[in-house]
Amino acid sequence: MNRLFEEAARRGLPTVSQEALRLCLSRALDRLRQDCLAGTPRELDEAFWQEITDALHVVPAISLQEVRNGTGVVLHTNLGRAPWAPEAVAAAAQAAQATPVEMDLQTGKRGRRGAGGEDALTALTGAEAAFMVNNNASAVLLALFALARGQKVIVARGELVEIGGSYRMPEVVKAAGATMLEVGTTNRVHLHDYEEALADPDVACVFKAHTSNFRVEGFTGEPSVEELAALCKKHAVPFVYDIGSGILCGAELPGLAKESTVRSAVEGGCDLVTFSGDKLLGGPQAGLIVGARPLVEKLRRCMLARCLRLDKTLLAALEATLALHALGEEEARCRVPSLRRLGLTVDDLTAMAKEAGEFLLHVDSDFELETVSCASKVGSGASPTEEIPSLGLKIIKKGTSAEGLVALLRQGTPPIFARVQDGAALVDLRTW
Ligand SMILES: *Cc1c(COP(=O)(O)O)cnc(C)c1O
Repeated sequence: MNRLFEEAARRGLPTVSQEALRLCLSRALDRLRQDCLAGTPRELDEAFWQEITDALHVVPAISLQEVRNGTGVVLHTNLGRAPWAPEAVAAAAQAAQATPVEMDLQTGKRGRRGAGGEDALTALTGAEAAFMVNNNASAVLLALFALARGQKVIVARGELVEIGGSYRMPEVVKAAGATMLEVGTTNRVHLHDYEEALADPDVACVFKAHTSNFRVEGFTGEPSVEELAALCKKHAVPFVYDIGSGILCGAELPGLAKESTVRSAVEGGCDLVTFSGDKLLGGPQAGLIVGARPLVEKLRRCMLARCLRLDKTLLAALEATLALHALGEEEARCRVPSLRRLGLTVDDLTAMAKEAGEFLLHVDSDFELETVSCASKVGSGASPTEEIPSLGLKIIKKGTSAEGLVALLRQGTPPIFARVQDGAALVDLRTW
């Protein structure tokens, strides 16, 4: 593959996206192999390279081109959150063709959609059952719709979050056809607050939301997940926890110390846990739901489930990402790109500085570059106040302001997203 990449560069093929080039190359190689098997051997001739050039001229021309993330925000929502592992990209490309998304190969009859990913999720979290939908916002909507429509949902006042856009907890409860029974205050909620609310016979579930993008500090307090789960069990009311980012592997990584894992929420007694596929799981956009089998099945059978279902290519990418998590903590941290980025030490970043510098000088040889320390962020609502020590390249160009430079870089080929720090443009190497 490396030799092909070199040849592609020698031929001046558009290399806006290495990933697109890799895909086009492997597809053309597949066709070559098929021709060989069919008894019409071909070589890496002009026709081979023409095929790739044609394909590449379509790929980079779309608006969703590959860009460079120098913002230092590892899971940048506006830049598509988690970058996929090559294994996930390959799995999605494969599933783009005919694939047994709802077909049992053994019986030849209709099979359960997403079965592979669901099995991986139950194994990784210790939950009885799993179900996957379009994103975490849909997962929460589906859970509340299926469990509490026409009834009441208990939510703590300190958890009435707005995630962004128009996703606000009170609106979601309303859209699900349920009514909110608020408990506690902005900064504190007690177990007895929940207990008193649970006396209402119209309560269908208790909902807990990760506060995601903000922190309340000082005189604060809330019951633990275990305490709340035990109370819900006593009252035979389901306990649904929207944990947001959803850590499967990488709980020890910098910046994540205060986040709890999906497994700990399941073991703590939550009946349903919902989380995103493209945050700390490091996969494609998806909403993952794990928990008690009867409740998961209720969600699966719900009319809304069909409206919120996941595409086959995303299911494939998700299954491949989960397979990387299943290799264990250490492998997952190396092979899931967002986890790898979070784990990079300042020494690792120092080693990357030279290549990034050359890349930037290629954009404009008048750039003056300087390595400086900076701080990265996890992004997408995980550990909003944590800063991860990082290394960046400060970019200066005579006669151009920092803001001007950032705009210039953003409009280049490929677009580079830098940020302004201390009056200069800066590319954070952690996310590069
Ligand atoms: C990010 C987040 C959501 C929304 O998830 P999407 O996958 O973007 O739909 C919902 N709840 C919490 C707590 C979150 O952090």
